[in-house]
Amino acid sequence: MATTLDDLRGLFALDLTDAVLTCGGCGASTELRAHDLYPDAPALVVRCPSCTAVVLRFGTGGGRVRLDLSGTRLLTVTAPSAG
Ligand SMILES: [Zn+2]
Repeated sequence: MATTLDDLRGLFALDLTDAVLTCGGCGASTELRAHDLYPDAPALVVRCPSCTAVVLRFGTGGGRVRLDLSGTRLLTVTAPSAG
């Protein structure tokens, strides 16, 4: 079965509380909740707890949502059907 944009919409509807990010800088894999969060920098900025590299930036403005994962090598979350 081919992956579609509908599958991508499902990804962003997932609960990220157990998400694991692999840092693009140092390669450390760490739960998202264990990262260093900077909520007003001016958007949400998430830094790797091992090397302090920015792994995620998230912000809203002008009717748009922006998600920058360029510092993340891999984002892993539990599929909804896996419970
Ligand atoms: Zn790192």
